[in-house]
Amino acid sequence: MTNRKIGVIGAGTMGNGIAHVFAQGGFDVVLQDLEDSFVARGMATIDKNLQRGVDKGRMTAEEKAEVLGRIQSTTNLDDLAGCGLVVEAVIEKLEIKTELFKKLDALLDENAIIASNTSSISITKLAAATNRPDKFIGMHFMNPVPVMKLVEIIRGIATSDETYKAVADMTAELGKTGVEVNDYPGFISNRILLPMINEAIYALYEGVATAEAIDSVMKLGMNHPMGPLTLADFIGLDTCLFIMRVLHEGLGDSKYRPCPLLVKMVDAGWLGRKSGKGFYDYK
Ligand code: NAD
Repeated sequence: MTNRKIGVIGAGTMGNGIAHVFAQGGFDVVLQDLEDSFVARGMATIDKNLQRGVDKGRMTAEEKAEVLGRIQSTTNLDDLAGCGLVVEAVIEKLEIKTELFKKLDALLDENAIIASNTSSISITKLAAATNRPDKFIGMHFMNPVPVMKLVEIIRGIATSDETYKAVADMTAELGKTGVEVNDYPGFISNRILLPMINEAIYALYEGVATAEAIDSVMKLGMNHPMGPLTLADFIGLDTCLFIMRVLHEGLGDSKYRPCPLLVKMVDAGWLGRKSGKGFYDYK
């Protein structure tokens, strides 16, 4: 793609990481969020993560300054006009995303590509909010973005081969490995990960073993870096439940029904690390 100006919408957990890797890959980035303080927090996180690279001798202070210098931050969506690709990483709410895509569709050049980092919403449905479903695609980065190699590149029903190729080429330029996936609920990552986590919760619910024992089996026996219940606490139990419901509803198969214990814990406000309590205590 010749236009190397990239827009990133949302400067939260994922958005600041996405802005970081594009700027480090030599692209000019415009990072947008709703309020100055949100943008400032995202930029501070990028600064801190780059500094870690400097401290470890992986980049020089000059290189860090160059990367930061390639990121323009803003609260004005209009500053994204002229971008060749815009990656959306705002909160996981269909109405908020579709409203944003309508505005972007009107703002951007007709050849610009729009990508969503959604973990669970249909790319085909999001694309339908625009008049460019052929130039709409999923770019599902993993958390933490600067560290994780994978990008699931999700083709909606109307995504063109040209759009896929442009995004796959850019992903490779970022030093990431892109994997082509068709648009079905949960894509590949969450379609396989979340039922495994849900099954671990069922094992706990049925009294098969303790949480520590379930996590030990998967860590030591399957070489997973983290047990599924520890991982669930890390992801957030509300997010786990939300994705299980997307799989259950979207695929219509009872094998995806969320474990009643997961539902009960979310009802109690036990959301994992972020609330201080999940399968483990973090207070
Ligand atoms: P987050 O809550 O950390 O950040 C979201 C940001 O979007 C916030 O800063 C918020 O102010 C901003 N925002 C909300 N509405 C906006 C709007 N209309 N315009 C501009 N900015 C707006 O969320 P996150 O964890 O970074 O998740 C973002 C997206 O990435 C979601 O779709 C999520 O499903 C997906 N995702 C998350 C992870 C993860 O591990 N956190 C992994 C893969 C994908």
